[in-house]
Amino acid sequence: MSEIRWDLVKQNWVAVAANRALKPNDFPIAKMGLKAPAAGGFCPFCEGNENFTPPEITAYRPKSQANEKGWLVRAIPNKFSAFTLEGELVKTDSGIFSCYNGLGEHEVIIEDPRHGVEFHDLSPERIETVLNIFKERYQDLSSDARIKYIQIYKNRGMFAGASLEHCHSQIVGLPFVPQENSGLPKYYRDNNRCLLCDMLAQETASEERLICKTDHFTLICPYAPRFPYETWIVPQRHCEHFADINEEEVRDLARVLKKLTGVIMDCLDNPSYNLVFNTAPVNVEPEAGYHWYMELTPRLLVNAAVEIAAGIYMNPVAPELSAAMLREIMS
Ligand SMILES: [Zn+2]
Ligand SMILES: [Zn+2]
Repeated sequence: MSEIRWDLVKQNWVAVAANRALKPNDFPIAKMGLKAPAAGGFCPFCEGNENFTPPEITAYRPKSQANEKGWLVRAIPNKFSAFTLEGELVKTDSGIFSCYNGLGEHEVIIEDPRHGVEFHDLSPERIETVLNIFKERYQDLSSDARIKYIQIYKNRGMFAGASLEHCHSQIVGLPFVPQENSGLPKYYRDNNRCLLCDMLAQETASEERLICKTDHFTLICPYAPRFPYETWIVPQRHCEHFADINEEEVRDLARVLKKLTGVIMDCLDNPSYNLVFNTAPVNVEPEAGYHWYMELTPRLLVNAAVEIAAGIYMNPVAPELSAAMLREIMS
């Protein structure tokens, strides 16, 4: 079980594994040194190894039975979850410090039964199925009043934090709302308008950082990107929660994601990347100004001291230049 500790200085939550610790040699980067990780070996996410994972939560399987072969997409509890969805949130004080128990949910979505198939290799129809399973899990998790925020994300490659190479994403249900997107409700309070809708209008008019527009989504390199080639995928329809995405938008988004991840893999020479969903909190007093969107952040650099110490990201690629390059290839 983890503890969710409050960092008084940085004003941030940190999930700390309170009773188990990785040994110094267990860390992938330490193991690797400067060599590429070895491929192959046993993989619990491969078809036929269903018994090596916890029983599935849901799956897309045209014919077969639960926890057998024959699935196409499979959602399972994370065996090494930092969180457990049991009991209530309990605060514990220790002098000036305070923490909460690790209440929450951590799930894995395995996106293909075959090992070595990457997200950008999946058919648009398969990515649609993956998005529909994200939506189903989001709806289910949001029905638990103890969960306040649902984070869907993908870590692809070691420098993005992936510990298994089999194509998968993860969902974390958290008992608190992260600070990360607090600029959205703040902008609404100050201006009585949605920040992302205003941003889409300005970026579309100027075209400087616009990559492309599809029927339902606009792709931009954001004005102040933390990472080189950081790309945002923003739905044109103002919508707070990812789970309110409609069928047509799912279809369109699947095609956008396939194309964008393929282009990023080609242009940036097979990089590690994170793909994350930003969405409104759930089960809290509603606040206006949220507009869900996705971020794709290639991980071409390792965070350095100034990012850790000052929180200032040093980005060597201007978004105007990365947008121009991606615009040419995406269109
Ligand atoms: Zn595998
Ligand atoms: Zn909006």
